[in-house]
Amino acid sequence: GPASRSPETGRPPGRAAAPPDSAGVRVRGLRRSFGTRRVLDDLELDIAPGEFVALLGPSGSGKSTLLRAIGGLDPEVEGHIDVPERTAVVFQEHRLLPWERVWRNVTLGLRGGDLRARAVAALDEVGLAERADAWPATLSGGESQRVALARALVRTPRLLLLDEPFGALDALTRLRAQRLVERLWEEHRPSVLLVTHDVEEALLLADRALLLGEGAIAREFAVDIPRPRPLDHPRLLRLRGRLL
Ligand code: ADP
Ligand code: MG
Repeated sequence: GPASRSPETGRPPGRAAAPPDSAGVRVRGLRRSFGTRRVLDDLELDIAPGEFVALLGPSGSGKSTLLRAIGGLDPEVEGHIDVPERTAVVFQEHRLLPWERVWRNVTLGLRGGDLRARAVAALDEVGLAERADAWPATLSGGESQRVALARALVRTPRLLLLDEPFGALDALTRLRAQRLVERLWEEHRPSVLLVTHDVEEALLLADRALLLGEGAIAREFAVDIPRPRPLDHPRLLRLRGRLL
């Protein structure tokens, strides 16, 4: 049957409730097949509250399938998933609606309050407050992804799910976006699951790097390097050597 989810308490009905402020992720026995191909096979994963975890793995290994499952976007996945109530997802494609102005894209689906003011505040966090009334088509790729980040931030997520969010950006824009995510994470401390095939990105940002293989977490590495991390930090280079 479909995965049991209990985002409020973090527990299936009938079991002891998690602490009400629990902001971590707990995944057990996750299974997902497409036809005869089993993509997730009894996968287990924990993310501590406020922890920044990177998920690495070759193309087709099931990273996006896992992220969608954790984000509650896959009704067919089997297993047990605990997530915080407020979870936001950013995809590689920004998925902005071209017929809505930037600020409306940021608050899409939200109700009440002064939505424009909330949108502008979130846009300010990504350095784009002055583009609130622009049309998405007038933004660069990096700006569009920052709007997608603002759209996540406006929901004050306790869990941020990022699926190769900077994969389509040029190297310099990507580096700036990575530093922005790092700053936002340090300020707001959501738990983060960052899917990436970029080993440097994982080692630059994450507390822990996981390697997805054969449907489960095959290996994991603690990235115990103080931030902000220079890309040529010796420990970072050593870990990179072990992952590549
Ligand atoms: P990754 O994000 O690691 O590149 P995905 O999670 O997108 O990998 O895909 C893992 C495997 O599952 C691939 O073989 C892919 O073709 C398959 N897959 C993913 N989504 C679907 C789908 N909706 N229908 C059929 N196969 C799918
Ligand atoms: Mg993917």
